[in-house]
Amino acid sequence: MISRAVLGRTGIEVSRLCFGTLTMSPMQAKLSHQEGARLILRARERGVNFLDAAELYDSYGYIGEALKSDRDMVVAAKSYCYDEKTAQASLEKCLREIGRDWVDLFMLHEQESIHTLRGHEGALTYLNRQKEQGRVRAVGVSTHYAGCVRSAATFGGIDVIFPIVNMEGLGVADGSREDMERAVAFARECGIGMYAMKALGGGHLIPKRREAFRYALSVEGISSVAVGMQRDEEVDYNCDLFEGLEPNEELARRDKRRLLIDFWCEGCGRCARRCGQGAIQVIDGRARVDESKCVLCGYCGSVCPQFCIKVV
Ligand code: SF4
Ligand code: SF4
Repeated sequence: MISRAVLGRTGIEVSRLCFGTLTMSPMQAKLSHQEGARLILRARERGVNFLDAAELYDSYGYIGEALKSDRDMVVAAKSYCYDEKTAQASLEKCLREIGRDWVDLFMLHEQESIHTLRGHEGALTYLNRQKEQGRVRAVGVSTHYAGCVRSAATFGGIDVIFPIVNMEGLGVADGSREDMERAVAFARECGIGMYAMKALGGGHLIPKRREAFRYALSVEGISSVAVGMQRDEEVDYNCDLFEGLEPNEELARRDKRRLLIDFWCEGCGRCARRCGQGAIQVIDGRARVDESKCVLCGYCGSVCPQFCIKVV
């Protein structure tokens, strides 16, 4: 079985592999709730008890379906709420869709700095009141910024941080891998629980995934690593890897990959200029990929200022 760790001072015990639901969601694979729940429960059999979701991904429904079979999984929800009213609406939506009267972690999505945290204080205050009432077990933030990890650690009212952590520092918006490592170490000393996002750098580190997961799990203070999964083969491969077993590389080879350009592309054209294969064009203000030319090298993703290109 996949081992577990406690998220900082929250006392919440999570599997070291966290099931990310973005990739199965309407934003990516568009699985049905039943199919997504089936994958979650397949991972559950291997010891995965931690599920990451967000209002943006529209993925609470998968979790609601899975929780019908196992009520005890740890659920992390995220929202762009910023004040009491928006936080209340987001929390009610989450609880309604997951079908439980509490959620384990409720996070403010994509925080950037002390300034954005201050701008969201109304939501944090509301969520901490809900925590006292037992409707939220822990309050947190997600961020791509090392500086925000430091600010959130001492801001007050924040128990958990979900930072971007990978062996090449891909996507760390304000610095390097080392800057993020120092920020995580600081937050850990403050008693903050953390789990990592984008350990595979948005797909760019898939060719080095063993090393990439090993790195993320080795960062002290990181209790779990969120990995998006949308196929049986991915679930089996990742569960094997996190369980310390020798995964069947054939499963990974069957893992069909493609380049995904997210809807928030601003059409700046940097990716098209970077691609040596001539596989990207900007059409009607959005980047489009010609899959017949794309060799999935991932170079285009490294120049996207919006971090919206992924190999999935
Ligand atoms: S670099 Fe990113 S934002 Fe710019 S066109 Fe390409 S995908 Fe869109
Ligand atoms: S992954 Fe490589 S080949 Fe494919 S579009 Fe991006 S830069 Fe071009």
